[in-house]
Amino acid sequence: MSKEKISQLESLRAKSKREADLFFSLCENGQNFVESKKLKDALGNSGLKPNDSRLQSLFKRLEAHGDTIVFEDFISIIRTSGLLVEKALRGQLALPDFIDFSKNLDKIFDEVKKMKAGELASYIPPLAEVDPDQFGIAIVTIDGQIYERGDSLKDFSIQSMCKPFNYCFAMEEMGLEKVHKHVGQEPSGRQFDDLTLLARTVSGNYTGEYAKDNLEGRFSRVPFNPMVNAGAIMTAGLINPEDSYTQRLRYIRQKFGSLVGWTADDGSSAEIPRFNKDMARQENFKGYNNIAMGYLLMATGSLPHTKTDLHRDIHPDEDEFDFYIEPAVTEALKLYFSICSLEMTATDVAMAAATLANSGVCPISQHRVLSQKTVRNCLPVLQTSGMYNASGTFFQEVGLPAKSGVGGGILLVVPQLMGVCIFSPRLDKQGNSVRGLEMAKRLTSKYLVHTFDGTMTDTGRLDPKLPIARWKADSCGEAIWAASNGNIRTLESLVSQQRDLQTGDYDIRTPLHLASAEGQFEVVKFLLDQGVKPIPDRWGGYPISDARNNNHKKIVDLFNKLDIKYTEPFHLVENPKGKTDKIAKFEDELMVIELLFAATENNVDNIRHLVAKGVPVNAGDYDLRTALHLAAAEGSLEAVEYLITHGHPLNVRDRWGATPLDEAKREKRKSVVNFLNKYNH
Ligand code: GLU
Repeated sequence: MSKEKISQLESLRAKSKREADLFFSLCENGQNFVESKKLKDALGNSGLKPNDSRLQSLFKRLEAHGDTIVFEDFISIIRTSGLLVEKALRGQLALPDFIDFSKNLDKIFDEVKKMKAGELASYIPPLAEVDPDQFGIAIVTIDGQIYERGDSLKDFSIQSMCKPFNYCFAMEEMGLEKVHKHVGQEPSGRQFDDLTLLARTVSGNYTGEYAKDNLEGRFSRVPFNPMVNAGAIMTAGLINPEDSYTQRLRYIRQKFGSLVGWTADDGSSAEIPRFNKDMARQENFKGYNNIAMGYLLMATGSLPHTKTDLHRDIHPDEDEFDFYIEPAVTEALKLYFSICSLEMTATDVAMAAATLANSGVCPISQHRVLSQKTVRNCLPVLQTSGMYNASGTFFQEVGLPAKSGVGGGILLVVPQLMGVCIFSPRLDKQGNSVRGLEMAKRLTSKYLVHTFDGTMTDTGRLDPKLPIARWKADSCGEAIWAASNGNIRTLESLVSQQRDLQTGDYDIRTPLHLASAEGQFEVVKFLLDQGVKPIPDRWGGYPISDARNNNHKKIVDLFNKLDIKYTEPFHLVENPKGKTDKIAKFEDELMVIELLFAATENNVDNIRHLVAKGVPVNAGDYDLRTALHLAAAEGSLEAVEYLITHGHPLNVRDRWGATPLDEAKREKRKSVVNFLNKYNH
């Protein structure tokens, strides 16, 4: 690779910085073109699927284009997908570190897979006959990134997972107020099929179409909420009651099709979920409790009845008469059983949940399927009542709107981030999937996604909205910069956020080291008063060495008063008078620390995202350490290669004069030493 090529690229970057940064981040070996495969890989690594409808014209252009793409073509190709590709290349999709997230989820999945507890639902044969070992998970983000594992593409019975959607469809048709004339929004604390109804006073002057159905009395009895069976039968009854059963079922299946992004361009649904008629018939055959509930709803007057009159019946036998069953009851039940018997894959359900997470817009089709208001009204009810009579515990432990079904599915909504569906048919006593529950719990114990995590500074858990390197940078970088600049205010506010001021960076350099190196006496005192202990850095150096090397005598005295045996650091500098290359300054200091963490972890994807965002590869931190120092010290060969072929100079020197080659030698990283030596000649 030639230096001229890099300088050609540099001049390109000067011309059209933003787009050139994207292009540059993908160029390999200093070439001035991008390989088509590199672009596809980068999109795949960001969690976008090749069959994503938003990328179809881009892929067509790529096919037509051949293997290499020059700058001008690159720009016109990526523009075919709006901002999507740019966001993916810059690591700005909902889950920015998709690879790391996937690895963590894979690990959790493999552990949970070992669980065999629980029983299949047995009240009807089609549910009792499924393979109990099935296990799948799918996660879809609001940007349409898709994570799938296990049996994520197998159809299964959605059962009660249809309930939040029925509720949404009814609200879309009638509005919140009218729907809640017929159903409450209170947690029931009872079994999902309990026959008890909520007694409540009718408030307001509701005079709408359904008012005549005995709703004007002082008390009304309604199902507790739309997530228990009574409530779901009710909401099913409210969806297009004037239409025939087949029209209504078709309408609902099309709505599900839109939630999942199967809608065709003309607005019609190209595909709809499979309907398992046998399942619906068995539900009907064995559904005594649900049937009782249907009549109960009619009896209390909250289920609107059809407008049929009692006809005169004529029978030859004078005692015979036509036995009347109110069609509104049978229609509501029939529709309810049918919707429960729709079959979808975990990926489909996760997409529908992602539509909820995305305030009603399907992430892939980009069509608005539900209004923001509908989603906003549905999620709280889901959160308080979605998990049968374990809803309270679930809210506390997992803290997310969720709904489970006896088919073994659990859907979770992480608002403004993602939809999740876990499918595994063995159920616990409450009817929730055992593995599904465990996955959900482990997801929140790994990631800060609980509704009330906003106030947490729990460094043991990760923020999925940040790349892991950024997360690490945030948890130490701010304190270190503040300490080195003498900013006690910032440190005080970090203390009140319960942030750990002892956390070191990739070199285990801590706020105390930097304050000592920079002669920030007040900061050193403040940190010691806070109980922060001096610890050795990567080279065995304590903060006292920093103070001593920089002649900060008062600080040295302070440390000498502590009862600690300090060791001396070992820095290898083979040729202190040798060539010295320039280290770049970059104003966003935390981005620099993120770059150095990414280099430490050999996370080339993350480095590429930062380059695409315009961070210079040779940016240095408070100790003049650069990404190449860190990649060399950790033996991160791919990162070393990427950095060098993207213009990182070799002879940068840190605070102690060490070059990346010195670092690789000191840490005995043979392959890096060989690579750097080869490169130097
Ligand atoms: N079809 C089932 C019933 O109503 C749904 C049960 C469930 O998933 O909770 O009994």
